[in-house]
Amino acid sequence: MNDGKSSCRKTQFKDGSFLSNVNCFLGEAFEFTDLDALFPGQNIAARLTAPDRAVENKVSLLMDDGSTVLVNASRVQHNNDLGPYKGGIRFDPSADIEHTKALASAMTWKCALAEIPFGGAKGGMQIDPRKMSMEELERASKGYMRAFADILGPDQDIPAPDMGTNAQVMAWMRKRYEDMNFGRISPGIVTGKPVSYGGSKGRTEATGYGLIYCAEEIFGELRNKRVVVQGFGNVGSYAAKLAFRRGAKIIGLIDPIFFKGKPALFDEKGIDVEKILEGGSGHEGNGEAEKVLAAECDLLLPCAKECTVNDGNASNLRCAAIAEGANGPLTPLAHDRLCKKGIVVVPDILANAGGVIVSYYEWLQNKQGEYWDEETVLEKLSKKMKRNARHLENFAKTSGMDMRIAAYATAIRRVAEARNESGSQ
Ligand code: NAD
Repeated sequence: MNDGKSSCRKTQFKDGSFLSNVNCFLGEAFEFTDLDALFPGQNIAARLTAPDRAVENKVSLLMDDGSTVLVNASRVQHNNDLGPYKGGIRFDPSADIEHTKALASAMTWKCALAEIPFGGAKGGMQIDPRKMSMEELERASKGYMRAFADILGPDQDIPAPDMGTNAQVMAWMRKRYEDMNFGRISPGIVTGKPVSYGGSKGRTEATGYGLIYCAEEIFGELRNKRVVVQGFGNVGSYAAKLAFRRGAKIIGLIDPIFFKGKPALFDEKGIDVEKILEGGSGHEGNGEAEKVLAAECDLLLPCAKECTVNDGNASNLRCAAIAEGANGPLTPLAHDRLCKKGIVVVPDILANAGGVIVSYYEWLQNKQGEYWDEETVLEKLSKKMKRNARHLENFAKTSGMDMRIAAYATAIRRVAEARNESGSQ
């Protein structure tokens, strides 16, 4: 039975790198799944912790001024017991291989929990796309594909967008892959493509909308609930938009890039999210990020990036519940502290799975030569998110685990079973 403490929390774990945070939660879930008893002598836990393969390449990038720079790029393939490796590519100066390993591991558990036939992977390139021209970005995207094409493929490893990449980047990558493969048409090599170039309707909004479908299943309807959203990019903006449309009162939005002057917008009467989005980035802020994050509210949606809620600010939070839109926004210490205060935390691998679920629908459409309408995609997504949320919440309640450890334990069990079936040789 869970005593409410993870093994790393018991050993006075300190907030560390994102990889050590993921491994902390994973370690506790391994204890609960007791894999040695289920699959004696196979050492499955060790085999599921380290990635299957982690490749690092230097990509040579021609800049508009004629200079050439060498940038670090990586692809980490964590596990493919349930299907082809699957996971986004991040363009960000912080996207080094250690960070990418943690994100790849999280993808394995997210796909397993969502019950989609994919494994887990992630890619990174240490560039800052906001400082690059479109031409430089196209060369970087195609350079990434050229460097990793030999380990990618529609039935092998399928990238998608993540922070700093988007549908346009996926289109460039698809084109380069096909050029390298004698023009063989392969739309399923990447997901998250533009709809006009083999993408799926509903993919762009899938993660943000999925987060709201999941939150509604667990917390009930959002009408009149006070919501704060941290990170107003792809995930945060679509989550805020759908919550607003459902009648929630969005009282705080935090994003130092979207807002100018001050990094956040606060209005206890509620913000008209659609109007803010129409105006685009550069809207005048009126609040400090940490103050708005700590505002009293019914639901906090951290949708920015890893470790934004940590040992330093967790005890200030006055939200009643959290649903994680970003990957790993809460560190283990923050998670522990908030759970002890009775705050329900809906974990990332459940709550932000909408993107990879619709990526799976896109891959299926590509394989079958079909185009589904938006209503079909979003209806399927909503049903799946709600069903998965219901199952996990019930399992957490009956097992006595918090939802995060219950999520990891469920996913580990599924991957371990597949690994066991395939034999040990
Ligand atoms: P994005 O780049 O579109 O948006 C992130 C936003 O967060 C940016 O606008 C940025 O300015 C803001 N931000 C950065 N640091 C911040 C901080 N400290 N406080 C407040 N705002 C901050 O990226 P995204 O695609 O929305 O991804 C966000 C998170 O969600 C990442 O952790 C990503 O891995 C995860 N995620 C994304 C998807 C997807 O489909 N896009 C799917 C699953 C998980």
